Amino acid sequence: MDPEELRELQLNYLKKIVIHAYNNVKLYREKWNKAGVSPKDIKEIEDLHKLPIITKNDLKKFFPGGILAKNYSREDCYIISTSGSTGTPVRIFVERDRILFDIARSIVWSRFIGIRMGTIVGIVVSSRDSIEYVYGRGIPWFLRRRRFFTKRRMYRFDVRDDPKNHISAVNKIKPDSLLTYPSVLKNMALTALEEGITISQPRLIITFGEVLDMHTRKIIEKVFNSEIINVYGATETGTIASECLKHEGLHIAWNIIVELIKNGKPVSYGEPGQVVVTDLIKNATPIIRYSGLGDVAVMKRGWGTCNLKSPLLELIEGRLVDSVILKDGRIIHPYTLTLLIQDIPFIAKFQIIQKEVDEIEILIVPEKTKDTKTLPSSTENKLGREIRKRFKKELGDKMKINITFVEDIPRRPGSYTYATVLSLVSKELI
Ligand SMILES: [Zn+2]
Repeated sequence: MDPEELRELQLNYLKKIVIHAYNNVKLYREKWNKAGVSPKDIKEIEDLHKLPIITKNDLKKFFPGGILAKNYSREDCYIISTSGSTGTPVRIFVERDRILFDIARSIVWSRFIGIRMGTIVGIVVSSRDSIEYVYGRGIPWFLRRRRFFTKRRMYRFDVRDDPKNHISAVNKIKPDSLLTYPSVLKNMALTALEEGITISQPRLIITFGEVLDMHTRKIIEKVFNSEIINVYGATETGTIASECLKHEGLHIAWNIIVELIKNGKPVSYGEPGQVVVTDLIKNATPIIRYSGLGDVAVMKRGWGTCNLKSPLLELIEGRLVDSVILKDGRIIHPYTLTLLIQDIPFIAKFQIIQKEVDEIEILIVPEKTKDTKTLPSSTENKLGREIRKRFKKELGDKMKINITFVEDIPRRPGSYTYATVLSLVSKELI
């Protein structure tokens, strides 16, 4: 597909979904009427910005009746829910055949990039957030069949297990593909380095769910020489973009339109903006100009050089909630802060927490060797001084920087994942 063909295809789908949403979904009809816009105003893809932005709160407020399209019955849909670590989760309706679409696409995609997924090990959250929970009515029939698992040879492990158990599972099954979160891989890699264990090498590692920053990637690459592909997706939309084998950025899926917005305006190439997504084929609960993912990204110029012809996103800079905001209104993206630390030697893991607008706490897990099994007694050592110096330079002298050496980084409250940068100060870009 060339850019013109893609535009035409997307415009066709966009017009259809906008008419559908206006005629059948209360949330959109109310919001658009209030803003004085209607499907007639959408003549080009650029007209999308005329429609108001939909937030997490809108989806919550209008659930269930106001977000389920009139021409869908509840029986035709699954209710899926985000695993949100704070507040009530967002729930939306997804038509049953849409789930098949997502599975079919991932199989086609893996063939397209030239790597068959073969035997798969997934180390993911289980029970509460698993498919049984998410799809309230139980597992879809095609997944329930044992044959699906045995044929595709999928094995699932709980993310909360000890990294040593993850390593032995991978060594026993010797999978072709490994699917998990960056933090899980990092823990496996650190354990392997510490204990001198060799890990069986999958051909393909697919990471998702957390930001795969350079520091994490470097540690993972010390142990795994697999092809590492990062996928960006969300419960509300499914896959949004995935990395290619040339690692040029994240190729956006054809059915997704990504806008990057700052202060109500689209940003230019190379400038960070908040992700606003439109899913062109989701009908039961349409997702049109949705800002609820809270991610920050940069759009790359051009489509790259591989055969996955589509626009490229770069540097998913993590949830906006995890950007650090300064007194003067400057927004420091998490990636900038992780860059400050990632090349300092002897750091195994770290977490940066903005506690107040003028106070940053940095938790450091120093790398352990045979000689240094215990934590340094004071942060007034070379390591502490270097970190403090770099943060003051970036964030200004007035920022209070507290450093603590810890044995491990705590997980997010109520979640199984870790954050590299956490901000407890509230903010919104749009
Ligand atoms: Zn590419």
